[in-house]
Amino acid sequence: MSNFLKKRYKQLEAYVPGEQPKGMKYIKLNTNESPYPPSEATVQAVSSEAALKLNLYPDPSCIDLKKVIADRYCLSHENVFVSNGSDDILNFAFMAFGEKAVFPDITYGFYEVFCQLHGIEYEKIPLDENLNIVKNDYMKDNAMIAIANPNAPTGLALKKSDIEEILRANPNHVVLIDEAYIDFGGESAVDLIGKYPNLLVVQTFSKSRSLAGARIGFAFANEELIKDLEKIKYSTNPYSINKMSLNAGIAAVQSDLYYRACCGEIIKTREFCIDKLRKLGFFVTDSKANFLFVKSDAISGEMLYEKLRKKGILVRHFNGERIKEYNRITIGTPEEMNAFLTAVKEILN
Ligand code: PMP
Repeated sequence: MSNFLKKRYKQLEAYVPGEQPKGMKYIKLNTNESPYPPSEATVQAVSSEAALKLNLYPDPSCIDLKKVIADRYCLSHENVFVSNGSDDILNFAFMAFGEKAVFPDITYGFYEVFCQLHGIEYEKIPLDENLNIVKNDYMKDNAMIAIANPNAPTGLALKKSDIEEILRANPNHVVLIDEAYIDFGGESAVDLIGKYPNLLVVQTFSKSRSLAGARIGFAFANEELIKDLEKIKYSTNPYSINKMSLNAGIAAVQSDLYYRACCGEIIKTREFCIDKLRKLGFFVTDSKANFLFVKSDAISGEMLYEKLRKKGILVRHFNGERIKEYNRITIGTPEEMNAFLTAVKEILN
C-alpha cells in the first residue's frame, strides 16, 4: 500500500476472484464458467470485420443490445440496463441505492466489498442451519436487500412467491435479486418488474450464455430505477461495454436455442453428479445453479481441494467459518465431471 491511498480505502479488502491458471493444464471447475463455447453466430459477430470498426467508440446507450434483450424477456428496452459484467451493475446498484444494505452471511462475496468500498452500513443475515435463506428475516423495510437467487455458493434457490413477499414487505427499499445462475433451474422474478417499483433483477451473459470473457451483464427494473443506474454509469464510464462485446451479446440473445440446450446439458450433468457424490457419502445441496456445494465427513474441505489440485482439477474452496468444510464445484462437460468423480474416488480410497 502506498502512502497516497485515501484513508477510507486503507481497510478495504478487495474481492478475490477465482484462479485463472496459466501453464499446467487444469480441469477448471472453479469459477462457474460454462464448459461450452459460444454459439457460432456469437463467434462470427466478433470477427475481424467487426474489429475494423474499433477506431470508433461503442454506442453508450447500448440500444441494440437492450432491444434484443427486452424482446427476449417481453419487456420494453426502457426496463433494461446493460453494463460491463453483472459485477459492474451490482457495483452501480450499491452505489445508487445502498444507504444501508442487508444480505445473507453466506453469499456472493462482492456485496460486502461494495458496501465497504462505498461506505455503506451493512448487516449480514445468517442462513439457517440447512444453508437456506429465511425470508422472514428480510421483512424490516430498513435497508436495500441483496439476494442471489439461486444463492452462491450454496446453489439453493428461493421460490418466486418468497421473493414477492419480501418485495411487498420492503416498499421503501430496493430489493436486488441477483439471478446470475437463474437459467439452471431457479424461478426468475423478471415478470414481477411491472408490479414492484422496488425490484431490480440482475443477470449476466457469463454463465448460461458462455460469455464470461466478454463481460456483459444486464438488469431489469422499472424505468425510474433504470434511469438511476444510467446516471451512475454515465458518471463513471459511459462506454462500459466495448463494441465487440455489444455484437457478441446481440448474437448470443439471438442464439437462444443453442444456449438453452447447453443449460439443459449442464443441468443433466449436475443431477448425475449430485447422485454420484451422494452415493459416495457426500452432503450435496440441492443446487439449482451450474455448480455443486459439497462436503464429506471423510475428508476436510481444504484437503479435498488440495488433493484435487494435485490431480490437476481446480475447484473453489472458501475459508469462511461456516463453509470451510465445503467445496464449490463448477459443472463441466460430462467427460470433465467423470474425471472429477474418478479423482474423488481415488482420494477417498
Ligand atoms: N453474481 C454472482 C452471484 C456471481 O457468482 C457472479 C460471478 N462471480 C457474478 C454476479 C458476476 O458475474 P459477471 O460479472 O461475470 O456477470
